[in-house]
Amino acid sequence: MPDVTNVVSPTLVRPDPARPEGAWRDGKVVVLRAGAGLPSRCVKCNAPADGPTKWRRLYWHHPAIYLLILISILIYAIVALIVRKQAVVNPGLCAAHKRRRLAGILGGWAGVVLGLGLLIFGVADDSGWTALAGVALFFGGLFGGMVLAYLVSPARVDKDAVRLRGCGSAFLESLPEFSAWAAGQRAGIG
Ligand SMILES: [Zn+2]
Repeated sequence: MPDVTNVVSPTLVRPDPARPEGAWRDGKVVVLRAGAGLPSRCVKCNAPADGPTKWRRLYWHHPAIYLLILISILIYAIVALIVRKQAVVNPGLCAAHKRRRLAGILGGWAGVVLGLGLLIFGVADDSGWTALAGVALFFGGLFGGMVLAYLVSPARVDKDAVRLRGCGSAFLESLPEFSAWAAGQRAGIG
């Protein structure tokens, strides 16, 4: 179960185990109804998820808010904190993808720390090449780690649904088409 008991934000999309249904695909994006959970499968390859699956909190704000950075990074940060919306989601991973992600995080950190050490050593030793190798290792670890650790990211969060990027095609194809469902809803109402 997610630890959301201490969250008071009115914008929080809470998962409701009583309503597990409600995940669709819309192109490369997963549409998750507010209050619904993701199926217990790997979001990267669609194999059965290796439990326990962590509930993760995601934050999203409208991309236009980024324009405030042009005025002031501080104003942007304050506005983003006020208007951002939260969602709690449970993206599953199979055992292999869990291992891959952990290796990415550990390898990334190792690269960052070793790179920094090499940079300091290179500067102290007056060796430009050693320092340069340190910088390369630092950024290689940072970005390589980020790529391997990447799970899902919010494309949009509103009061009705959470839209998620980052799911693999096998997982996406296992979900029903959102447009067909939405058309059915409209037909049912009209
Ligand atoms: Zn997998």
